[in-house]
Amino acid sequence: MTTWYEYIQRNAPVPEWPYPIRYGEETEIISDILIIGGGIAGCHAAISATRRGANVVVAERGMTKRSGSGGAGVDHWHAACTNPCSKVTPMEYTQGIIDCARGYTCGPARYIETTESWDTLLDLEKMGVQIRDVKDEFKGADFRDEKTRLMFAYDYKNRHIIRVWGYNIKVCLHNEMKRLGVKTYDRVMVTSLLTEGGKQGTRVIGATGVNTRTGEFYVFRAKATILSTGGGSRLWAFGPEYFGAGTMIDLNCCSNGNAIAWKAGAEFVMMEQTAAGRASFGYVPYGVANANNTWYGTPIVDANGKEVPWIDVFGREIKTKKARFMPTKGQKFMLGAGVGVSTYVDEFRLNDLVPDLPERIQKGEFVLPLYADLTRLTELERRVIFGMMVGNEGKTRIPVYEMYTRAGFNPDKDMLQAPVMLLEGYKSSNFWSGITDPTLRVLDGGGLLVDWDLRTSLEGLYAAGGSSLGNSPIFGVGCHNSAHITGRYTGRKAAAYVRTASEVLADRRQIEAEKARVYAPLTQHKNGIGWKEANYAIAKVMQDYCSKHKNENTLKLGMRLLKELNETELSSAYASNPHELGRLLECFSLVRTGELVMQASLARKASSAMMDFYRLDYPEVDSPEWRKFLPIRLENDKVKVRELPLDYHLRPPYAPTYEENYKLHCGQ
Ligand SMILES: Cc1cc2nc3c(=O)[nH]c(=O)nc-3n(C[C@H](O)[C@H](O)[C@H](O)COP(=O)(O)OP(=O)(O)OC[C@H]3O[C@@H](n4cnc5c(N)ncnc54)[C@H](O)[C@@H]3O)c2cc1C
Repeated sequence: MTTWYEYIQRNAPVPEWPYPIRYGEETEIISDILIIGGGIAGCHAAISATRRGANVVVAERGMTKRSGSGGAGVDHWHAACTNPCSKVTPMEYTQGIIDCARGYTCGPARYIETTESWDTLLDLEKMGVQIRDVKDEFKGADFRDEKTRLMFAYDYKNRHIIRVWGYNIKVCLHNEMKRLGVKTYDRVMVTSLLTEGGKQGTRVIGATGVNTRTGEFYVFRAKATILSTGGGSRLWAFGPEYFGAGTMIDLNCCSNGNAIAWKAGAEFVMMEQTAAGRASFGYVPYGVANANNTWYGTPIVDANGKEVPWIDVFGREIKTKKARFMPTKGQKFMLGAGVGVSTYVDEFRLNDLVPDLPERIQKGEFVLPLYADLTRLTELERRVIFGMMVGNEGKTRIPVYEMYTRAGFNPDKDMLQAPVMLLEGYKSSNFWSGITDPTLRVLDGGGLLVDWDLRTSLEGLYAAGGSSLGNSPIFGVGCHNSAHITGRYTGRKAAAYVRTASEVLADRRQIEAEKARVYAPLTQHKNGIGWKEANYAIAKVMQDYCSKHKNENTLKLGMRLLKELNETELSSAYASNPHELGRLLECFSLVRTGELVMQASLARKASSAMMDFYRLDYPEVDSPEWRKFLPIRLENDKVKVRELPLDYHLRPPYAPTYEENYKLHCGQ
């Protein structure tokens, strides 16, 4: 039989692999601190630790300058509670998040985030990120403070979310790393953590990696390791050819971090929490009419020019455009969109379009298609949305702002059409998400359990990151700002730790075993399946057996199928070059993460509305006895689960308040 590869080789030879092949060659790199993942959190951790005198190395799967979910930009910065205009204190904001998440969030990371958010933004300003209206383009706007020239989003009264010109934020971080002499290893995908004595559950002393261009093997030895590998895409939904520009999250962030920390024996929480998988099979993010997030406040009109009303959180119609940006009577402040919580309590929720828009369209009150009509806003509001925000937000500067402008779109006179879709798609004002298929889930608030040092349960291993439609290495964190802040904080903590930590030699047997695992796909028969087929199969198992509705049977069957897939098709899968090798190794990580999610789902014998977690065999929702974390880990490859109160971080050995714990641990 002729394989596809043989056919191509014979009839239409593909270009030669453009990089030197170095399979099996090993390079050892020794540093004080290893950072795994040079995204937002990883870069900021590297800068922070280097400034404190540590010798730092970054291993990044892509290209540090632009990689990760934050690599394409950011337009709004959350939780800047200590900026001179803010009317919200760090404790009020932290409590707001905890109330919205009903306690299922990372208290330490949340308090650190709100306390250091403004200082971190000032840090970035020094690195070259524009955070003020320095050219006075928006002078006189409701959302601008004339003295500081800061510009605020969503809640113009309380002023804790700052609009930023963040299209180049990653480039600025990268330049600062270069200035400080941080060593980065781009295109190196970390495949495992090294542990003391090669055993599960012991101190982390480095990692192994493979270069996805040359196939070279790396052994990183470090006294401390910071895991900052971003979120976990591709577990339920996979279809890169079909996603096209519609995908939101970086496809390189696909659970490698989860898999390697799980294998090393670190404790996770909330991995059973998933969310309906928006944003991959929809429309270009922020590229069609909508009134959400970057486009918050935009007037939506129907085909006859009739405007869709806005209501406040108590269902009262909002009469003026200005009032959309103000908390309503009975509300303290609005938290804003994308703060890493999946539900909001009314006290902190944003105003929105009427939630019964689908029914109103059905009855003929509004006629499709709908449009975003920016001409109905003041000139400053219009320009801050289409110009400043769409222009700096991730993935919008070139494909949306520049392309539309070049094609002639002018927000002063043109309207942008919303997709014409099933009516339920208009239930959320985020129209570009399209219709949500309930089987296509994404990981949500789960991640590594951390203490007040943001250290994991394993000595030597710290976690940093923010969420973006997928989990983060730290459980229950916010978004872009959280990634910077937790990176900055862990950089500080790891630098302090390595000052006294001893150096430990890596276990050669552990390295050899990993090397054999990593290179196995190169030696398989060419008939073996490729990484895409493997990824589709994994996603299908997750959709069928661990989706919205599940019970003990489906979860156990799902785990059996993943195991069989691992031992049969995946074990004989073939990689023809270092790129395919990297992608196949990611599939093994996806299987491991799938198992972790199913094990965590089995452990929670209850349903939880907050976690969007429903067990058909335990239908009681939110019973008080199940209001707890269930930390889960591997010990000698056996799953261990324990119970932990939601406020574990305020109980002994910790102090009883956020302020005291922060003072004791922050290290500044
Ligand atoms: C389009 C878009 C717009 C957004 N806009 C906003 C916004 O305006 N405001 C806001 O607050 N948030 C926003 N977010 C969310 C925000 O960008 C993320 O929270 C943030 O980027 C997370 O940072 P991180 O460092 O945790 O992960 P990332 O920035 O994703 O970095 C993770 C890095 O790890 C690398 N990596 C993964 N696995 C490995 C491995 N095995 N070995 C080596 N390296 C590895 C990846 O290549 C990547 O570079 C947006 C997200 C997207 C996708």
